[in-house]
Amino acid sequence: MTTLIDNTRPSAERPATERYDVDAVNSAGRRPPLYAPRKKIFPKRASGYFRKFKWLVMLVTLTIYYVTPWLRWDRGPFAPDQAVLVDLANKRFYFFFIEIWPQEFYYVAGMLVMAGIGLFLITSTVGRAWCGYACPQTVWVDLFLVVERFIEGDRNARIKLDAAPWSASKLTKRMIKHVTWLVIGVLTGGAWVFYFADAPTLLGDIATLQAPLVAYATIGLLTATTYTFGGLMREQVCTYMCPWPRIQGAMLDENSLTVTYNDWRGEPRTRHAKRAIAEGKPVGDCVDCNACVVVCPMGIDIRDGQQLECITCALCIDACDDVMTRLGKEPGLISYATLSDYNQNMALATGSGKVIQPTRIRDQITGRLNDAIKHTDWRSIIRPRTIVYFVGWSAIGLAMLTALALRSPLSLNVLHDRNPLYVELRDGSIRNGYEVKILNMTPALRTVELRLEGLPGAQLSLVDGGEDTAQVLNLELEPDKVLPLRLYVRVPPGARPASQAKFHIVVETPDGHARSNTETTFEVPENAK
Ligand code: SF4
Ligand code: SF4
Repeated sequence: MTTLIDNTRPSAERPATERYDVDAVNSAGRRPPLYAPRKKIFPKRASGYFRKFKWLVMLVTLTIYYVTPWLRWDRGPFAPDQAVLVDLANKRFYFFFIEIWPQEFYYVAGMLVMAGIGLFLITSTVGRAWCGYACPQTVWVDLFLVVERFIEGDRNARIKLDAAPWSASKLTKRMIKHVTWLVIGVLTGGAWVFYFADAPTLLGDIATLQAPLVAYATIGLLTATTYTFGGLMREQVCTYMCPWPRIQGAMLDENSLTVTYNDWRGEPRTRHAKRAIAEGKPVGDCVDCNACVVVCPMGIDIRDGQQLECITCALCIDACDDVMTRLGKEPGLISYATLSDYNQNMALATGSGKVIQPTRIRDQITGRLNDAIKHTDWRSIIRPRTIVYFVGWSAIGLAMLTALALRSPLSLNVLHDRNPLYVELRDGSIRNGYEVKILNMTPALRTVELRLEGLPGAQLSLVDGGEDTAQVLNLELEPDKVLPLRLYVRVPPGARPASQAKFHIVVETPDGHARSNTETTFEVPENAK
């Protein structure tokens, strides 16, 4: 590490900054061939606005993940009290007050579509913000790095430890680190299985070795993947395994915000500004200190331009802003910027030529940046494309909420018997048979009336109910269950329709609050038509 002096300012104001000895191991210029052995990255701890924001996102996302299965929600004696539960055994998905049945899978499909459009919206506005802040891989790698720093120290201490021969101290630190990572892996896998069963019960079963084998297998698998991806593979998962970096290229446009090195301001970079100025050479703001490289968890140098590896975590912005502040210069040498604004500023810095001229963007006497420089602001995210995404996303959300609000807690499925289509009885009546399923989608006992509409004179009877016929059947529905029935509909000779007739089978609570009906047909013999 060496000390750099800013010689572009009066000597009394000259602050000093440090230069880091670091290789951007994944830098575009020196990217190794595929399948080359991984070079270890030892990211330095960053501090600043974006780092604080990342801590906050990490805290919120991890809390949601680990705590959610333990939230209780009173659904009465006939349904589980877990607020969020994927009940595979009974084919139900519970989400607080919402209960989704298998035939309502379109809600899940709608949420997946919303998640997809949401990713389009976020990527087209703020680039790979998902990757940089909220992706589980990013969050868990950050968590594993916190553990690593706590046990082994920050970058220099970790490099020293890594290069040191094996000793009792090194062995102890490494063991503590890996055991802690494994414990995090177990907790991660453990939290996942709690989404699929009553969490307190399953925890007791796991502790007493009475849980199903699949629970232990899932915990084992997720422990292994969390430990491997978060602790050992880290940036390689994003670079080689995740498809998202490839897809996002198609989603960005010239108005998307991305983490950008503003070379129109930073170049020509130099570590020896005084000598360069004395030699009459132009000098940009970048002092080539590598602070932006040393904090990068992906091992790249943002000064090489946009790269597939960059997850836009913005830690290099924090690092460079810190350097600029210490040098008494404006922050923002690395910043969130759009390509469109960058191009305008580059045109300003180069004029009609291709060479960046620092004198064109900074007043050499006052030292102030040119007022014509375009600064990217949040308004750039509002444009036709993002509005279309937002409207589409909101429309699906509203449609799902409306469908949920209007959804009947009763549902009815009817299937007409195919063989025989009808039976002609001795008294001249025609009888049709139906398979009926009544779904009580509430955790409470219900009494319902089943009747016919649109088929005058028709009588109902249950196949298992003997010869008794009625206009209305009163039925008891168990909570959160399906009642399957075999039903006969019988029309006396005087009321026989001349041809196939359409009518409705209706179930309704006596108070009329819940109702469901299904249209079906009543078949008659050809000679009756
Ligand atoms: S270049 Fe900057 S924004 Fe990109 S991954 Fe590295 S630190 Fe994060
Ligand atoms: S961009 Fe900023 S942090 Fe990176 S080397 Fe230049 S001055 Fe240092």
